[in-house]
Amino acid sequence: MLRTAVAGALLAAGLAVTSSGGDSAKADTNGKVTVVYDNAVKPKDRQAVAVVRKSRVLEQLAEWVNKSVALPHDLEVKVTDKVPPGVTDAVTQPDGRTIFVPPSFLTQIEGVLSDVVKTVKRPALFPKDSFNADDLTALSTQFVFGHEMGHALQRQLLLPNLGLEEDAADGFASFYTVNEVGPGPSLAAAILFDEIAREEGKLTLEGLSSDHPVTQQRVFNFLCYLEGSDPKRFHGPLVGAGYLPKTRAPLCPQAWAMLDFGWWTQLKPYFSGAFKDQGDKTQEKARDHLIAETKAFEKQLDELRSAQ
Ligand SMILES: [Zn+2]
Repeated sequence: MLRTAVAGALLAAGLAVTSSGGDSAKADTNGKVTVVYDNAVKPKDRQAVAVVRKSRVLEQLAEWVNKSVALPHDLEVKVTDKVPPGVTDAVTQPDGRTIFVPPSFLTQIEGVLSDVVKTVKRPALFPKDSFNADDLTALSTQFVFGHEMGHALQRQLLLPNLGLEEDAADGFASFYTVNEVGPGPSLAAAILFDEIAREEGKLTLEGLSSDHPVTQQRVFNFLCYLEGSDPKRFHGPLVGAGYLPKTRAPLCPQAWAMLDFGWWTQLKPYFSGAFKDQGDKTQEKARDHLIAETKAFEKQLDELRSAQ
């Protein structure tokens, strides 16, 4: 899932531009994110593509980036079968200027989630009326696309990384969706990855040596950031209900505060003119929040260590 492509970009012809983000076109020379759905979709993939297209989850993030970030280059998001050789899932090209989303990958996600709704008990936190394959597909695609956008931002802006790029990409997916959308995408992605981990079965050498954390670990990372973003709201339904272990939970408020401060700080030099004031204030608030969470964590530390 969400591997990074090393192959060169294949420019596909015959694509229809169905939407483009960005509101202030006037004298704005920044790169823009556009989402392009190829009209030629195989019959077997039409349902999943229609679900994602109707949800506008790709366009929503495109619009957020266009509004907030001054990109040096355009970024084209292509939902198309015309992908570089070997690409089977969502990938970001090394220059960060193209993200490919193969329709068959969306069908694969929808297939896994169709099994989930038949076999997995709905977590009480996840709304009943969204616990169906279509809504779960749209929400998890929103998270997966956040991951790819994380790669694109890192590569276009040449952001300094202190850990693996894949962790930072997952982090951007949490940062964007938790702040701008709500808990739905993190929960749907956790549900999806949990099922994928089950299907993968026993850990293999390839899995352990991947540049991604192992799949089940990513589930807990997604839940940890969500819980940490608002423990008052999420502790009961995630930790109390047994989805996020009690051993991990105490670390999550500070982990979220670090991630939130980290991404606001990484993006700060690249805020668009229109977003700068709001972005700077949000970054300062995130800094204060991290300092407060670190102090709160320090207070609990003796108790937590003794309980281990
Ligand atoms: Zn990735």
